[in-house]
Amino acid sequence: MSRSAFAEKHPWTQQWWKAEGENTWILVYIITIHALALVGIVLFPIPGWKVFLTALALASMGAFGTTIAYHRSLAHRAVKLNPIVEQVLVFFAVFNGSGTPSTWIANHRNHHANADTIDDVSSPRHGGFWWAHLRWLYQWEPSSMQRWSPDMIRPRYMTWDKVQIPLVITSICFGYLFFGWAGLFWTGAIRLVYVLHMQAFVNSLLHLKPGLTAGVDSSRNIWWLGPLQLTAWGENFHRNHHSYPASARFSRHWWQIDLGWYVIQGLRALRLATSVRVNQKC
Ligand SMILES: [Zn+2]
Ligand SMILES: [Zn+2]
Repeated sequence: MSRSAFAEKHPWTQQWWKAEGENTWILVYIITIHALALVGIVLFPIPGWKVFLTALALASMGAFGTTIAYHRSLAHRAVKLNPIVEQVLVFFAVFNGSGTPSTWIANHRNHHANADTIDDVSSPRHGGFWWAHLRWLYQWEPSSMQRWSPDMIRPRYMTWDKVQIPLVITSICFGYLFFGWAGLFWTGAIRLVYVLHMQAFVNSLLHLKPGLTAGVDSSRNIWWLGPLQLTAWGENFHRNHHSYPASARFSRHWWQIDLGWYVIQGLRALRLATSVRVNQKC
C-alpha cells in the first residue's frame, strides 16, 4: 500500500470545519447553499410547477454534463464528443456546482488509481461516510493536474476555472429574475444542495462496505439510488464502472437504467459522439 505524505497525516481525523488551503471556498459554498436552501424550504415549501420543472431541468442537464462530459468522455476517454456538445455539457456541469474539468478529472483519475487504499481521495474505508460524502472535497489536497490530468491544461478547459465563481454565484441567484423569491431558492440553492448530495453518494454510499478486508474492491451497484439520483443518471452502477472504467456504458444488463448511455447512443446516431468504447478496462 503506497502512502503519500498527505495521506500519512490522516486528514479525516481533523475537525470537519478545517479546510485545506485553497479549498476553503468549497466549504464556504457548501455552508452557503445549505443555509439558503433551509431558508427557502421554510419560506416556500411548495414552489409551483414552472419553478420546480426549471430546477429539475437544470439539475438534469448538469448531471448529463458530469456523467457524459466529465466522467465518461474527459476522465476515461470512453467517448469522444463533438467540441460544441462537450462545451455545452461542461457549462451545465459548472452551473450545477460540480466543479471544473481541471479539478474534477484530476481528482477522479486519482480516485481510480488509488481506490480503496489510504491514498484514495474519498474512501469511506478510512474516513467514514461523511469524509467520503463531503469532507474530502475541501479537506484533501487538490490532485496535481501535472500528474493526473495534463491533457486538461488547455485553454478550452482551463477557462472554466476563471469563470467558475461568477457562474456559480449566477447559478444561485438567477431564478429571482424569472420567478421571484421562490425561484431564487428553488432553482438556486435547493437545486444545488440536491445535486451535491446525489453526486456525493457516488463516493460515499457506492463505496460503503463496512468491515471489508483491505485491498478488496468496495464499489457497489445500488439500483434504488437511480430513481432518487435523477441528476446523476447511470452513475448508481458504480461497481460496473470500476470493473470496466473505460466503458461509456455503465449498465451491464437491459434492465439497468443508464440514461447517460442512452444519450451517448443518441449523440452517436447524430455523429456528435465518436470513438465510443464499451466494456473496456482501460
Ligand atoms: Zn469509485
Ligand atoms: Zn470513473
